[in-house]
Amino acid sequence: MKSYTAFRTARIANETTCSAALEQFLSTIDNKNTAINALLTLNIDEARAQAAESDKRFAEGSPRPLEGMVIAVKDNISTKGLKTTCASKILENFVPIYDATVIQRLKDAGAVIVGKANLDEFAMGSSNENSAFGAVRNPVNTDYVPGGSSGGSAAAVAAEMCHTALGSDTGGSVRLPAAFCGVVGLKPTYGRVSRYGLVAFGSSLDQIGQFGVTVEDTALLYDAVNGFDERDATSSHHPQQHTLTALKKPLPASFTVATLPDDQLQGCDDDVMRVYRETLERLKSLGAKIITHEMKYLSAVIPTYYIVATAEASSNLSRYDGVRYGSRKIGADGEVATETRSQGFGAEVKRRIMIGNYVLSSGYYDAYYTKALQVRRLIYNDYKAVFADADVFLTPAAPTPAFKIGEKSADPLAMYLFDIFTVSANLGGVPGISVPAGTSANGLPIGMQLQANHFEEEKLLNIAYHLVGA
Ligand code: GLN
Repeated sequence: MKSYTAFRTARIANETTCSAALEQFLSTIDNKNTAINALLTLNIDEARAQAAESDKRFAEGSPRPLEGMVIAVKDNISTKGLKTTCASKILENFVPIYDATVIQRLKDAGAVIVGKANLDEFAMGSSNENSAFGAVRNPVNTDYVPGGSSGGSAAAVAAEMCHTALGSDTGGSVRLPAAFCGVVGLKPTYGRVSRYGLVAFGSSLDQIGQFGVTVEDTALLYDAVNGFDERDATSSHHPQQHTLTALKKPLPASFTVATLPDDQLQGCDDDVMRVYRETLERLKSLGAKIITHEMKYLSAVIPTYYIVATAEASSNLSRYDGVRYGSRKIGADGEVATETRSQGFGAEVKRRIMIGNYVLSSGYYDAYYTKALQVRRLIYNDYKAVFADADVFLTPAAPTPAFKIGEKSADPLAMYLFDIFTVSANLGGVPGISVPAGTSANGLPIGMQLQANHFEEEKLLNIAYHLVGA
């Protein structure tokens, strides 16, 4: 896989052009997308025009930070004039009238948006089998899932259909597919990247994340889209951050990595444990001091997440009533809302709406929702305790490598358990990154996750950069 940074160097040396790079990606899409199903909508004409504009800027010697970067965007991020379906029948023909803030920033930075990436419907899932437009397949081995919910974004990067991609991460949906597909995936601190124009799933958990082939490309993309946005009420007031200059700085002579005690890693398979131990050794060789931190609430993270996320989803998804957005279905008796929702939403989305309504209903609200919020605070406090002693927290991104298509789709609970190492970062609001760290005996990628304290993306990326090795 070729990085954008390598492409940019070649472009500056006039060894290639943005248009040639785009055509190469388009022909790969042509060859592979039918099998992999990573991209739902292509943006060919606009992409070609933007690539030509980028070549002009390079020729003039004034390229912008992402000039000519070919990027796929998860299809739950609003793109003006370009279909945004959330991989749901209810938004099958929905064409937004405005760009998300991240899209505006990509355009201002010279990126070439090649198309919209497949996902689990409304970003609900861990395998990308919940899309109304068909599952995404893992480019490394098409019998396997790519991970979800940003599976199309991760697969598009891994299959060389684009340089980079944007996804969204509510409980691991950037980090898990990055791990399964063998690419880098970053979930920034909650509030760091504007959610304006990101179709809401769990508003207090959602964050737009970045995929790249290298940590450097991922950092470059993150740099272009982060920073305060007055159109997002939960946007953090930090100005735009530039991590790229600090990325390659040598690591501090001594830094501390927290890890889980072995008994909290019991559910992990042997390949994952082998790669995990290799990663620990590598961190030690880079100067890390390793400490053990028991996550006191590890057994509570999945139930807590699935209460908060479904509660927020049931509220957010009430806007799809057949009146304001997307498709409208009229029943025999003239009824609209129930008919539209019954036909428009898939099984997993309906399950979430029902659980969410249940945990918010009077009589159960305190027992479930209020309790989940209390546990969420304890998880947050536990992160504060870890990062008082450690710079980063290392865990596997997932307990196993990718599983086979169909293997877990009949068992939602087994699927939810896949998020054991990722959801706590969203509950606590801290940043996390998954980096490719090894392969399983049968050749599937394995990712390791690093997390850091709030707003410490610079440190996180710096350590990730050295861990992967430039
Ligand atoms: N797998 C989790 C879920 O289904 C996370 C999804 C996400 O991060 N968007 O809720």
